Amino acid sequence: MSETFLVVGGDAAGMSAASKAKREAPDRDVVVLERSEWVSYGACGLPYYVKGEIDSLEDLVAIPADRFREERDIDLRTGHEATAIDREDSAVTVGTDDGEEYTIDYDELLIATGAGALEPPIDGLDATDVFTLQEMDAGRQLKEAVETGEYDRIGIIGGGYIGIEMAEAFRGRDIDVTLFEMRQHVLPPFGTSSAETVEDELEDNGVDVRTGTRVEAIDGDGSVEAVRTDSGDVPVDAVLVAAGVDPNVELAEEAGIDLGPTGAIATDEYGRTNEEAIYAAGDCAEMTHAVTGEPAHVPLALTANRAGRAVGATVGGDPTPVGDIAGTAVLKAFDREVARTGILDAEELRAAGFDPVSVTITSASRAHYYPGGSEIEITLVGDADSGRVLGASMVGREGVAKRIDPIATAIQSALTVEDVEYLDLSYAPPFGPTWDPVLTAAKVLN
Ligand code: FAD
Repeated sequence: MSETFLVVGGDAAGMSAASKAKREAPDRDVVVLERSEWVSYGACGLPYYVKGEIDSLEDLVAIPADRFREERDIDLRTGHEATAIDREDSAVTVGTDDGEEYTIDYDELLIATGAGALEPPIDGLDATDVFTLQEMDAGRQLKEAVETGEYDRIGIIGGGYIGIEMAEAFRGRDIDVTLFEMRQHVLPPFGTSSAETVEDELEDNGVDVRTGTRVEAIDGDGSVEAVRTDSGDVPVDAVLVAAGVDPNVELAEEAGIDLGPTGAIATDEYGRTNEEAIYAAGDCAEMTHAVTGEPAHVPLALTANRAGRAVGATVGGDPTPVGDIAGTAVLKAFDREVARTGILDAEELRAAGFDPVSVTITSASRAHYYPGGSEIEITLVGDADSGRVLGASMVGREGVAKRIDPIATAIQSALTVEDVEYLDLSYAPPFGPTWDPVLTAAKVLN
């Protein structure tokens, strides 16, 4: 009898692992349990779906369930939720949408349960017209609700990337938006300078940005009437809670699988948990940060796909480390692109033993004579002792999204600022000045 690779969670990490394992070892039984009806979807597209730029949720699906079953020979079970892991018997208890319960044995198990929307400790979250945007069905509910035309004013709790993308989505539907962020700036991991530019962009596009404002409650009699904050009430018709994510670790925790310092599932370089035959990957798991070498929880799509694929290879007989992460991220905020990689926070870097130095430069997105260019601002952080590149943030109207990537590469390759200064990057007038802004930032910092 062939061995069973059982995967819990049918999205980025889970389906990457299942597909890779099946490719490496076609004779293995690969079973995927997914509690929803959705598999291999791009939650990253939900803001654009709610905005109306993407018509149907089905458009966000990369590979439909039937193709996994028919073309990849994966036993994919949607509407099946893993409810318990029995490590002693190497078995998982499953509950189905039809009310059935069964157990399934595994030889190797991957926990790829993702993350859920973080519930901030405020009253009124159970009111109607309070939404989150983590799962596909939540996206459908939110879109249907805004399409009724009943909301003139929406409050967004949280100035992270989902909050900002959704501010744009709601403004695109002519809905007034107030965005509440309890810290001094939106997008904390992107650094102050980029965050300030994004705040200006939000305000210029009609978003009422309330930074340094703590939400205390959502008020209303069943439905939402106002957001109560430490600096007064703001009347709204609906609220989107986008205050961060919580890794889905209950299943693992109840089975005695160790969590790491971040609260996500602790894993080794192959994505293995403290139980030899059980792996974890994606938003539910920790990865190693390339800058600090310490466990980190940075829930992003490529991280999940990469780690899942590596686990699939390992299980399929080709041991493959999941790699480290630099926390590279990019988003669009109206007409701005903003990106980051590595670690920018000086205190965090000092705590990790670095002596951070940084520079913020402004350069151009095209050659000075080529029409249509605009400013790009880059903050580059390096270590005064070793010269290593530690982090970067950049913001501009064009040419930002992919310019962060050489710096991410530098971080993962432990390059110095001087190495970056002498990188052989591309040049032509429509795409940048001869000395690319990345090179200029390194030249100034070095
Ligand atoms: P998930 O995608 O969360 O999948 C986990 C799956 O496990 C879910 O389908 C869930 O139903 C299932 N599951 C959970 N528990 C069980 C159980 N007990 N039994 C069976 N099934 C279970 N990332 C980026 O890099 N760039 C972006 O621009 C970006 N934008 C985003 C925008 C939004 C609105 C959201 C919500 C996320 C965005 N992300 C983005 C994050 C990205 O979507 C996630 O990092 C990625 O989906 C994580 O994949 P995963 O497989 O680990 O988890």
